[in-house]
Amino acid sequence: MKINTEVLIIGAGPVGCVIAERFSNDLKLKCTIIESRDHIAGNCYDEYNKKGVLYHKYGPHYLRFKNKKTLNYLSKFTKWIKGNYIVKSVVNKKLYSFPINLDTLEQFFKVKLKTKKQAINFIKKKIVKNKKPKNSEELILSKLGKEIYENFYKNYTIKQWGISPKKLDKSVAGRVPIRFNRNPFYVNEKLKLMPKKGFTNLFKNMINNSKISLILNTDYFKIKNKISVKYFTIYTGTPDKFFNFKYGKLDWRSLKFVFNTYKKNYIQDYVQYNYPNDYKFTRKVEIKHVTKQKSKYTVISKEFPQKVGEPYYPIMDKKNKTIFKKYEKLMNASSKRNIYFEGRLAKYKYYNTDEVIENALDLYKKLKYKYKKLK
Ligand SMILES: Cc1cc2nc3c(=O)[nH]c(=O)nc-3n(C[C@H](O)[C@H](O)[C@H](O)COP(=O)(O)OP(=O)(O)OC[C@H]3O[C@@H](n4cnc5c(N)ncnc54)[C@H](O)[C@@H]3O)c2cc1C
Repeated sequence: MKINTEVLIIGAGPVGCVIAERFSNDLKLKCTIIESRDHIAGNCYDEYNKKGVLYHKYGPHYLRFKNKKTLNYLSKFTKWIKGNYIVKSVVNKKLYSFPINLDTLEQFFKVKLKTKKQAINFIKKKIVKNKKPKNSEELILSKLGKEIYENFYKNYTIKQWGISPKKLDKSVAGRVPIRFNRNPFYVNEKLKLMPKKGFTNLFKNMINNSKISLILNTDYFKIKNKISVKYFTIYTGTPDKFFNFKYGKLDWRSLKFVFNTYKKNYIQDYVQYNYPNDYKFTRKVEIKHVTKQKSKYTVISKEFPQKVGEPYYPIMDKKNKTIFKKYEKLMNASSKRNIYFEGRLAKYKYYNTDEVIENALDLYKKLKYKYKKLK
């Protein structure tokens, strides 16, 4: 079987779907998407289980937007419901607001802190002064002190990453907001929305165009020699595989998800409970709090971090940063051959969904300009 296409896209995740939608709708070009899994939507994939409960197969996806433009673009393919994501951390069997905020500090230290200023002054007496924290441990010690670090961060980070926070880049712990007000939400962005009928439905609508051919259950590398591409190839997989591991393998942290269905309206009071110090899993998620689905049943997922498995989180240590830089050079040079790399796997960076969609839209703009010169 020979495949002739104008644009080839590897991966039917958010990036692959956006690129296919733009080329097929805007420039009317024939696009082919190759996807190794049996579904579209990448890690945003959600589906209904046997009891009819909508659940997120690859961990909870709390969609939020840094940029109104990205929201406007996605609004062509879905209606929205509000996404008020609330997370609690379970420490010594008590529930605390997480990310750390003024309520967490009051409850944990058993003090009354009326204002943000009072909270900041209180924590100043706890912190380990350090103007240039070099890793995740030093960062949290310098912002919140030893007690909070040891009860809320340390063991969670060790479980999640399998290494000491001392060995982890400070950007990892730095991703979680720290607040001295009473804002209870998991994320800082004001635009927090969930696709009303789920993520898979959103991406299905996005690629609903007869100019797009979708080939599922197929690894690109197994059929690569049978494909002829007229204009562009966009690759959203891991870079080491693309270049046949020339500079070695990039490490990823993976997860095992265990799902249980219960004949109950709800099991938890909030969508996510973090367990920093107990159990082998890191968090328990009941996504129904976010999908707002009406059902007699509910699903709880537990996440067990592991070394092997699907690539979920890039490991930002020295060794991997060095290897990635070498692949980055090869990726940049490939644009001369009209091969482009985009997305969370190809960029070896933890991006949220809105960020990869924004990047994909930017790449499309660049390619549209180049196409006009090529044709
Ligand atoms: C556990 C977890 C939780 C997350 N939570 C959130 C959240 O709360 N909010 C948020 O905004 N974002 C969240 N994200 C991030 C979000 O999933 C990503 O930003 C988004 O899915 C990236 O889109 P992508 O297209 O770059 O990659 P992906 O979604 O990874 O899609 C890439 C696709 O390419 C396919 N592929 C790769 N190689 C090949 C090949 N050789 N041949 C064929 N197909 C191939 C893969 O099978 C995959 O389907 C989370 C991610 C994870 C892992």
